[in-house]
Amino acid sequence: MNHHIFGPVISRRLGRSLGIDLIPYKTCSYNCVYCECGKTTDLTSIRKEFFPTGNILNQLDNVLASSPKLDYITFAGSGEPTLSLSLGPVLAHLKKNYGQYKVAVLTNGSLCTDPDIRQDLISADLVSPTLTTTTQEIFEKIHRPVPGLLVTDIIQGIRSLRNEYKGQIWLEVFLVPGLNTLENELKMLRNAIYSIRPDLIQLNYLDRPGTESWVSPPEPMLSGKIQKYFAEGGIPVEIIGFDKMIPFISQDKSTTQIDETLRRRPCTAEDIAQMTGISAPEVRKKLALMVQQGIVKAKSGERGIFYWIAADKR
Ligand code: SF4
Repeated sequence: MNHHIFGPVISRRLGRSLGIDLIPYKTCSYNCVYCECGKTTDLTSIRKEFFPTGNILNQLDNVLASSPKLDYITFAGSGEPTLSLSLGPVLAHLKKNYGQYKVAVLTNGSLCTDPDIRQDLISADLVSPTLTTTTQEIFEKIHRPVPGLLVTDIIQGIRSLRNEYKGQIWLEVFLVPGLNTLENELKMLRNAIYSIRPDLIQLNYLDRPGTESWVSPPEPMLSGKIQKYFAEGGIPVEIIGFDKMIPFISQDKSTTQIDETLRRRPCTAEDIAQMTGISAPEVRKKLALMVQQGIVKAKSGERGIFYWIAADKR
């Protein structure tokens, strides 16, 4: 059975957030060089109901029955959530039955050109689209999108969302040193961002193994400089860090939870220990066994050794 509800995670962006994953691994309109979920295997911009909406709602109702303490319920996970035709109905269900929770959608923003998708997003409390560049060549280098997607159209789509949607827009700018951090690039990007008028700009960078090993985080001085430069227009700018997992009150501490977490993103043993409540040495023991069995792969990263589920075990 597919598990559509995961977490919660704690992130600087959203606090304590329960995830909803509507998308099969790894279905996306982009194949970003920095993606922490791995290479896109189904590169598409065609919307579908990938899983029966009723099953997703059942899983959601089961988890929310215990009234967990959450800052957000967040659409995110194994790919681009706006590709799912379940997005609108699940969001409507949340707003009708669980109005006490705020709902966020993390999207790459590429499909905001579609008025139906903008309509699906309208009842969210927060939409966080990504924009990394205004140049088609750099856009293709960073995101390796579905052929035919134009960055100028996407910028216009996010602008239209801003005009139609009354909730918060937190624009994520993913920094890929050497590609979108050059002066001229940043100048054009800043102009585009100011024309969108998001409520917040969030600078993000890779801090765990991504799809391509050559992608590195920017020097702290560079991100600080970019933060200052983008903030000149009066829109607040944050530099965001890594997301950490924390225990989910009503879930068990089984390895299934480790497995489910690693299916969505690489984590260190410490991240997993925080999520499950199992001690870090114990987690390391379990991970060593999983590596031995070929279920899990490991690689050194900025914050230590990261683990993820091997491609043939997904
Ligand atoms: S980072 Fe997001 S948009 Fe890019 S490939 Fe991964 S899931 Fe898709």
